[in-house]
Amino acid sequence: MIEEKLVIVGNGPAGCTAGVYAARAGLKPRIFAGDHPCGLLALTSDVENFPGFPSGISGFDLVMAMQEQAEKFGAETDYDTIVSIEFDAVNGHRFTTADGREFRSRAMIIATGATPRKLGVPGEEKLWGRGVSACATCDGAFFKEVPVVVAGGGDSAMEEAIFLTRFASEVHLVHRRDSFRASAIMVERARSNPKIKMHLNCVVEEITGSNEVEAVRIMNKVSNESETIPAKGFFAALGHVPATELFKNSGVEVDDNGYIVTAGKSSETNIPGVFAAGDCMDPRYRQAIIAAGNGARAALDAEKYLG
Ligand code: NDP
Repeated sequence: MIEEKLVIVGNGPAGCTAGVYAARAGLKPRIFAGDHPCGLLALTSDVENFPGFPSGISGFDLVMAMQEQAEKFGAETDYDTIVSIEFDAVNGHRFTTADGREFRSRAMIIATGATPRKLGVPGEEKLWGRGVSACATCDGAFFKEVPVVVAGGGDSAMEEAIFLTRFASEVHLVHRRDSFRASAIMVERARSNPKIKMHLNCVVEEITGSNEVEAVRIMNKVSNESETIPAKGFFAALGHVPATELFKNSGVEVDDNGYIVTAGKSSETNIPGVFAAGDCMDPRYRQAIIAAGNGARAALDAEKYLG
């Protein structure tokens, strides 16, 4: 049994920032990178909105710099994945890794992130990061004066479509039904924007292009007619799935959508000594800077708890 004071699950911006703070406080945290080292941010080509980098920085470089900073102060990155967990606030939280090691830790910060829901259509995976994106705030500015497609019918889809009209020549909003899940005011704003063209009752069948997105083929479910929309960008605004599967029956409280519930303005979960930070507890903002801030907060809460 390996004994730890503090373990951080996930090494995206939330986990690494928690690592910096906890390591500087002398807690020697072990940070598990898991199945998706460096998190979602590592897949973003250029990050232009993280303060401190006026010329932008690649998502991978940014998160690697955070990891290096945490390690400099004594954090250890463990590239294994936690496969089972048993919370025990009295004797220490126990968990096992994929390679069979057993751990016990007095405190834990859950920073496992969330993954954008994908359509699973041909071309989506191949062209991810080459015109296919799930974040207009991150990547929208790369699509100046070219047509783009947004898929989805929630508030994110409306927000992303409206945001993208700042750059794109036209925005095609593709939604599988004829009514929207999004709030009426957001739908109205999108409808009244002359650059947005709505394609209702339509499903995306394929995203085409050899090296980058060239077109999106959609099918109208009512008329059964296909249409090919020439586009340089495809934005999936289909909601996110929190990466909290590991904690499903662990006793840690999650909401109806699987996001970890924290108390008030703190990072505390319902289990003493267990804290949460970043996209696994934040369905709303999903920004690296906010995840990083949450990570700092969780480390401060953990430090106080351990003290
Ligand atoms: P939502 O889950 O609300 O919406 C997801 C959308 O994607 C739905 O329209 C859904 O269609 C569609 N969708 C899901 N899977 C598929 C699929 N396989 N194929 C086609 N379409 C699919 O996610 P959001 O990210 O939009 O919003 C999440 C939360 O964040 C909400 O509570 C929202 O209100 C909030 N939010 C608030 C904002 C604001 O207040 N400004 C901005 C952004 C988000 P269908 O409707 O048919 O199920």
